[in-house]
Amino acid sequence: MDKFVTLNKQDLNDFIVKLSRSQPVMAPVARGCKSFVFESVDSAKAIALHYIPTILPPKKYFFPQRETLLTYNKTTPAWDPVLESRKMAIFGVHTCDLAGIQCLNMVMSASPQDNNYNARKEGITIIGLECNNYCDEYASCNVMDNHLPNGGYDLFFTELPDAFMVHVNSNAGERIVNDIGFFSAATPKHTQQLEEMRARKREIFKPEVKAGHKQLRGIFAGAFDSRQWDRIGERCVACGNCTNVCPTCYCFDVRDEINLDFNTGTRGRVWDSCQNEEFAQVAGGENFRKQRGQRQRHRYMRKFNYPVERFSRYFCTGCGRCSRACMAKINLKETIDALAEEKR
Ligand code: SF4
Ligand code: SF4
Repeated sequence: MDKFVTLNKQDLNDFIVKLSRSQPVMAPVARGCKSFVFESVDSAKAIALHYIPTILPPKKYFFPQRETLLTYNKTTPAWDPVLESRKMAIFGVHTCDLAGIQCLNMVMSASPQDNNYNARKEGITIIGLECNNYCDEYASCNVMDNHLPNGGYDLFFTELPDAFMVHVNSNAGERIVNDIGFFSAATPKHTQQLEEMRARKREIFKPEVKAGHKQLRGIFAGAFDSRQWDRIGERCVACGNCTNVCPTCYCFDVRDEINLDFNTGTRGRVWDSCQNEEFAQVAGGENFRKQRGQRQRHRYMRKFNYPVERFSRYFCTGCGRCSRACMAKINLKETIDALAEEKR
């Protein structure tokens, strides 16, 4: 499936209204100063088309912060899995967050497969939206090679002067185009405008750190004993914000809740963070990442080193959320620069 259509800008609202009558539509919405969240919309009027990465990535629809995994009854005895999934469309997903979903898809479909994540994924249609301009000083999507579309969506919208160019990338995307309507065949004028916009993007989006994409792995592979980890660790307050907002973090804790009959209950999971002191605490009270610097090193290695070995890709999308959310102002780009300088 590789086809382009267009949607006139004045038809966007009718498109969203009609789509939201067929399934819930989630989209970026403004919340306060320079803050955005993905939430349910029923018209395009609420959507922030020009937004910087939302506080939480769209990961929350695939892998919610809390979810029930099974219910149990000790008497019968019975353990019944809970697989919740609902049909929805997520509109306006930027290329960095598409990359985040691609990373999670790899993890959750590797053995052992995560049935809850995969059931949710089946019900979700992804409609991407291109960033024509640079988000802010925290973003590093260029060096992570995520500033241009690279799959992972059903439809992908690019804003042109008077229309959206729409890449149809799956059967689900084509069904929306056919069923919802409002689309026209792309013309050579639109194709030219798309090429001009991408050429302008290549001018605007420059490498953000003192290392190239391919050098990052080597920098982190040789940085286990770097003095940067202690420096960062001295500032880190172990709040876990950086991992909670990250589109590729997927650690969770499993919790049992027993009902007052002491017989039935539920088993659920809740997001966890490698930045919490207890995260690496094991039986006997030993903690193999007791120092904050050790935990920060682990976080970075889980983005730039370990996943390259297992999945052949970085697990940092360059969204910049961790740096935006850090109350200690620990900045991912500054860390990369410091490590790159050390390696010279
Ligand atoms: S490490 Fe930071 S910049 Fe990279 S994907 Fe996670 S939140 Fe985004
Ligand atoms: S957000 Fe900043 S202070 Fe909080 S755990 Fe992450 S690096 Fe440490």
